[in-house]
Amino acid sequence: MIKKFDVVIVGAGGAGLRAAVEIPANYSCAVISKVFPSRSHTGTAQGGVCAALSNMEEDNWENHAFDTVKGSDYLGDQDSIEVMCRDAIRAIIELEHMGMPFSRNDEGKIAQRNFGGHTKPADANDPYGKRIPVKRSCYSADRTGHVMLQTLFDNSIKNQVTFFSEYFVTELLMEDGVCKGVVAFDIATSEIHIFQAKAILFATGGNGRVFRITSNAHVGTGDGMALVYRAGLPLEDMEFYQFHPTGLWKLGILVSEAARGEGGILKNKDGERFMVRYAPTVMDLAPRDMVSRAIITEIREGRGIRGSDGTDYVLLDVSHLGKEVIDEKLPEITGFARTYLGVEPTKEPIPIQPTAHYAMGGIPTNVNCEVLMNENGDIVKGLYAAGECACVSVHGGNRLGTNSLLDLVVFGRRGGKAICEFLKTADFYELDKNAGSKTNEMIQNLFSSNGTEKVVEIRTELQNTMMEDCGVFRTEEGLQRMISKLKELRERYKNISIQDKSKVFNTDLVEALELENLLQNAEATVYGAFERKESRGAHTREDYPKRDDQNWMKHTFVYRKEDQDPEIKFKPVVVTRYQPMERKY
Ligand SMILES: Cc1cc2nc3c(=O)[nH]c(=O)nc-3n(C[C@H](O)[C@H](O)[C@H](O)COP(=O)(O)OP(=O)(O)OC[C@H]3O[C@@H](n4cnc5c(N)ncnc54)[C@H](O)[C@@H]3O)c2cc1C
Repeated sequence: MIKKFDVVIVGAGGAGLRAAVEIPANYSCAVISKVFPSRSHTGTAQGGVCAALSNMEEDNWENHAFDTVKGSDYLGDQDSIEVMCRDAIRAIIELEHMGMPFSRNDEGKIAQRNFGGHTKPADANDPYGKRIPVKRSCYSADRTGHVMLQTLFDNSIKNQVTFFSEYFVTELLMEDGVCKGVVAFDIATSEIHIFQAKAILFATGGNGRVFRITSNAHVGTGDGMALVYRAGLPLEDMEFYQFHPTGLWKLGILVSEAARGEGGILKNKDGERFMVRYAPTVMDLAPRDMVSRAIITEIREGRGIRGSDGTDYVLLDVSHLGKEVIDEKLPEITGFARTYLGVEPTKEPIPIQPTAHYAMGGIPTNVNCEVLMNENGDIVKGLYAAGECACVSVHGGNRLGTNSLLDLVVFGRRGGKAICEFLKTADFYELDKNAGSKTNEMIQNLFSSNGTEKVVEIRTELQNTMMEDCGVFRTEEGLQRMISKLKELRERYKNISIQDKSKVFNTDLVEALELENLLQNAEATVYGAFERKESRGAHTREDYPKRDDQNWMKHTFVYRKEDQDPEIKFKPVVVTRYQPMERKY
């Protein structure tokens, strides 16, 4: 069945919905999502969304931009970072005007809290010298993403967007550098639909499910990135994957950085506040890559706590904040600790461990969200990407907390605007008469296969080995092992079968398709990590422990090659105001 829309947006998280709000009702706009829109991962974001509003103390967008560049370990493109940090203030006011219920300070203004890596100069005359934490993150208790997503959902309904919920996109229709549509199947019926469009925006979110311990929802399987990669387009900087320092031990469920922003403290088995040794100025509010490395180092050096299952953790203590502050500002996350670990955070510390959290890399775009087809910056006509699946790159080697929700609303809107401009002259491209046949074949093969391999086994092996060999610390040996493992898993994937052969809401089928996407995401990450012989941001090579600006101030572009190793090319980092400096906190 062919459906025609001026614009198709794949993904109903913050980025997709913010873009949808921007498309005027005189254009037809479809939003496709594999889950009901309000179940998108954006709805689980807890801590906040940042902008230098100066509601609590003096701040400005340049402080924010410098922090983002430094936090990115100088891999972020400074032109994009400037666009985002300048626009942040307008973006927050706009959300407020759309109806987003922010928490308030005593004056009735939007309240702001501390978050890791957000700072300002201790001495105004020495802007890049010693810096101290600044309250920059706007929030709604610890449910910021939930209220943001609901607000954007309401506004896109008002804007007469057509939703296709529980439709799974399987294929990007692209020929000769132009994008013509996507193929999806309706999960409820397994029926295949072709969506023909003048412009397509991918806002398909992250891929944390590549790893065993992750904060990401089950839907975080990097589908959009994989579809683009399969269509022959590159993925950028996929080796930069962020581990959030504080996931609930064993489960990975996130305990937002807001807990430390409000004064929570990390402790080792001796009760020592160990961050004093790793980041003496900002301590527990150091950026995530540094805190995650510090936690793993404590554990490796025997200062972690051994759990009943033989795995280790450290402690996050918020008990000194008092019941009132905890109940008002951190109700959700302390509730998780009670429910899932049986810990009472008002009285005792919470066991935590680093958890796979955020993809800094993704589908390469320029500042107008136009997808790049190569490292020279040429664009694919009619294809856009925004949000976590995209790489603009504002987060570079390491994202600062609360910069992602900001990225969604700034670049979601810019993508929407760019599409409107494009639609003034754009038309539909004729579809190939075989459009959709690849997806059909893929699904039929899965239904008819009697293969002996199981999806869950391959996925578990992938997640376990990625955690060990391509996690917080990496070595040549481990990555080499991971490359061989991926080859093996890809071979085994060819021999999978699904048990459920029904056409109605077949989650076996969905999981099989997601697994292929996970394998492709992992491939781009592992080969990028193998190639990059330095340590920068979240990418730590124990065999190359130093950042190497001489050779590596460049983005990785990984291209898929059928049944071969992927090809890797590079694009220089855009440096405008801030020359690389040593990154100390
Ligand atoms: C637990 C948690 C807490 C966080 N807290 C914060 C925070 O406080 N502040 C902050 O700035 N950031 C936070 N982040 C990061 C931030 O929330 C995410 O990066 C961001 O919400 C991603 O938004 P998105 O719009 O790109 O994608 P998502 O919200 O992940 O949405 C992806 C959409 O794509 C759709 N989709 C995917 N694949 C397909 C497919 N094949 N077919 C059809 N549809 C598809 C999904 O259905 C979904 O609608 C947090 C992340 C997590 C996991």
